[in-house]
Amino acid sequence: MTTVEIFSQGEELVTGQTLDTNAGWLSAKLVQMGFTVSRHTTVGDKLDDLVSLLREVASRADCCICTGGLGPTIDDLTAEAVAIAFDRPLEFDEQAYQQISAFFSNRERPMPKSNRKQALLPQGSKRLDNDWGTAPGFALHYGRCWFAFVPGVPFEMKQLYQERIQPHLLANYSVKPWQLITIKTIGIGESDIQQRLESLKLPEQVQLSFRTSSVENQTKLLFPPEFSRSELETISKQVAKLIGDPVFTIEGIDENSGDLITILSHLLTTRKLTLAVAETISQGQIASHCIGENWLIESLFCRDTLQLARKLDLPNMELAVEEEQRAQLAITFARQLKTMSGADIGLAQLYFQDQTSTTLLYTALVSATDVKSQLLKISGPIRRQQNRATLHALDYVRRFVKDN
Ligand code: AMP
Ligand code: MG
Repeated sequence: MTTVEIFSQGEELVTGQTLDTNAGWLSAKLVQMGFTVSRHTTVGDKLDDLVSLLREVASRADCCICTGGLGPTIDDLTAEAVAIAFDRPLEFDEQAYQQISAFFSNRERPMPKSNRKQALLPQGSKRLDNDWGTAPGFALHYGRCWFAFVPGVPFEMKQLYQERIQPHLLANYSVKPWQLITIKTIGIGESDIQQRLESLKLPEQVQLSFRTSSVENQTKLLFPPEFSRSELETISKQVAKLIGDPVFTIEGIDENSGDLITILSHLLTTRKLTLAVAETISQGQIASHCIGENWLIESLFCRDTLQLARKLDLPNMELAVEEEQRAQLAITFARQLKTMSGADIGLAQLYFQDQTSTTLLYTALVSATDVKSQLLKISGPIRRQQNRATLHALDYVRRFVKDN
């Protein structure tokens, strides 16, 4: 296991004025390569804090990538901290100075005096030429750790990583990438997923984690390099089977992966099916998710159910009260829409708000051979309800098509 730490420097980071995107970007790159990223640390513009952290890292990590603090201003203290921490006095690097001067003369700008500071590098360090900005980076070994220091500007940091740091890592460390499988689900919470996986006995080396977002929940399986493709597939499919119907794709195994709409689009396209939607609470959001898709051939939106009925040429409708009648009503809407539009599948989504703050959402699907409807109870701010209704509708179509 080769451990790497990411060290971000800057008062703007610890005070929340700038988000530390460098650490995330670097970690993703390093994990992909097979390194173990063991820690992210962020330090402001305090020399003592920087010095003590550098010493700590030197004793516990194999590599450390530091971003920020190499600028020309007095608050950029990284090189000075390295000089103190590792007893490597700063030395003037003539070539670095020439590069910095050239950066300004190429842009026909006078070089401020303060930029000379960026040509001072710790004794014995290797300069990392920066062809994308003013400050060069530098690298050195101390203790058990190889350190690379680069500027914090994300564009420069990325270039220096790709052109100077990654080649060094590839040449000096034999790491093999771990294999990540992501099981994506809709309509099920993290805790429910965990419950469904209670009986699962994963090999000890496989790491299981969960990630949630407003659009999907992800169950992640990280396999060590020595796991074969077939072992990994067997285990991942077993996990997906335990989670069940909410799984819409297994990224890393399924040929087609991506977000829900990509999966749905693939299903409808390969089966040559078309869809028409009539929506209420979601105000056109279902259709807007399908923009650009040939299989969506008609969409209707009315917030008011009776008005939607009139648009669908169902003039004598009455709003139902019983659950069964409401489900039937949604089916009638879906069937009528299918007939009027000529689509293979008609989807209608109706909603009812009773005395409670809960919305009762009826989604119905009608095709030539099948009819289905489902009641979902949703609550919370209207935007959240609309998002849930939209995702539910699209996922309901996915399940319907998959099973037919
Ligand atoms: P520095 O190299 O410390 O002079 O940083 C230059 C600029 O890069 C800062 O003013 C920030 O806007 C940006 N920056 C520095 N560190 C980070 C970081 N970790 N993530 C994202 N942006 C950063
Ligand atoms: Mg800074």
